[in-house]
Amino acid sequence: MEKFRFDSKAVHFNKKLKSESTSKAQPIYQTSAFKFSNLDELEGYFEGKSPHMYSRVSNPNTDDLGTGVAQLEGAPKGVATSSGISAILAGILAVAEHGDHIVACEDLYGGTYQLLAKELPTFGIEVSFVSFESKDSIRSAIKDNTVLLYSESITNPFLRVENLSTIVALGKEYNIKTMIDNTFATPYLMQPYLDGINIVAHSATKYIGGHSDITAGVIVGDQVLIEKAKKKVMNLGSNLSPFEAWLTCRGLKTLSVRMEKHIQNAQRLASYLSEHEGIKKVYYPEHASEKGNGAIVSILLGEDINPNTFSEKLDWIGVVPTLAGVETTISYPIGTSHRALPKSEQERMGITKSLIRISVGIEDYKDIEEAFQVALS
Ligand SMILES: *Cc1c(COP(=O)(O)O)cnc(C)c1O
Repeated sequence: MEKFRFDSKAVHFNKKLKSESTSKAQPIYQTSAFKFSNLDELEGYFEGKSPHMYSRVSNPNTDDLGTGVAQLEGAPKGVATSSGISAILAGILAVAEHGDHIVACEDLYGGTYQLLAKELPTFGIEVSFVSFESKDSIRSAIKDNTVLLYSESITNPFLRVENLSTIVALGKEYNIKTMIDNTFATPYLMQPYLDGINIVAHSATKYIGGHSDITAGVIVGDQVLIEKAKKKVMNLGSNLSPFEAWLTCRGLKTLSVRMEKHIQNAQRLASYLSEHEGIKKVYYPEHASEKGNGAIVSILLGEDINPNTFSEKLDWIGVVPTLAGVETTISYPIGTSHRALPKSEQERMGITKSLIRISVGIEDYKDIEEAFQVALS
């Protein structure tokens, strides 16, 4: 398995318990605990002789998801959690404690911003938000008690591709850990751990699950950090349920084929929209990876297009405050992900009423283009 390439690893990561090895598909271990035939066997669990005792601590399905994503990211270990946000929290708490300071990129996913700005200070962890576009602005925010640099590989909603080598270099220079949310890129496009980032987080709710039917998260990294993060997941009770993990693993197996189609469609839609006179600006990443630039496209509608009418005329393309499902959907940053930001912050970032974020699905491209053509006419 070790020598398998990306697409093969994605299909073959499940680790079966010995007793179930004849079932082709991985069973669902929908159980809160595991049975031992005697006290010695129970003791054996603590000596590492059997893998599972209690599902909040570990379970074959949740372990599968952590392992599967870790393999695709090229990292030694991973842990699955109840959501992307709880994965991010577990990763942060593996590094930072009361009295510590974090430097975070200022254009983060809205929910992550809430976690860092509102919740971490109640743990006694202080966060500075700065532009990550210049090395100097990151540098000037680093203090004696800074323990972590935090950003996203492709940012939301303007889809800036993060300069990971700058973050890795600063982390080494100041001896502080680095963490990247790789949700938009997925390991199919970017593998930040292999670039030297210490912890990589995912909202598996998005492309990894891929079908908009679960909420889940994963973080991967080295053995020591992920063991620590796993303790946090166990003690905070932010473990993922076996069934959700099983569904997410099923999604993971088709990540490559979905991403390929998502990306092809997005690339074509981005170039179609950038030529359209009704559109003022198209945001689509460049040079994210040799496999393409992802499947999220943001657009700024021209002044004479009413965003509400536009959304209504998109017909089968729904307004959905999430992304990365197989269906094409649009979302409205000012109304959802960036709603809670102060008006001044929205203005500074350029989050306006004309900004629409498109999550391009895997339908036939022509149907997607036609829907936009109709809505824009
Ligand atoms: C959705 C998302 C999250 C949060 O994940 P949940 O699964 O909703 O908790 C974090 N980061 C990014 C980039 C996201 O898109």
